[in-house]
Amino acid sequence: MSTQDYTDILHCPHCAAQEKGTLRLVKTDWLACQDCERQYPIVEGIPVMLPEEGDKWRGVAVDELPDIEEHNRFVSVAG
Ligand SMILES: [Zn+2]
Repeated sequence: MSTQDYTDILHCPHCAAQEKGTLRLVKTDWLACQDCERQYPIVEGIPVMLPEEGDKWRGVAVDELPDIEEHNRFVSVAG
């Protein structure tokens, strides 16, 4: 499955109940909700659609989102 396909089949977990939560791909490995501005990383090809991830990156400017390799490193250090 290509990354672009995720935007067709996935929705933001915060907004899906309202039949909203259309996602768009940003920076090749982030999915951004167009309705609430939460953003979800795609780690090793798998979108991490966890509400706490979305909250963490909500409203962060695209330019300030880490690339995923960096994000993984951060998570492994923090965890
Ligand atoms: Zn949303």
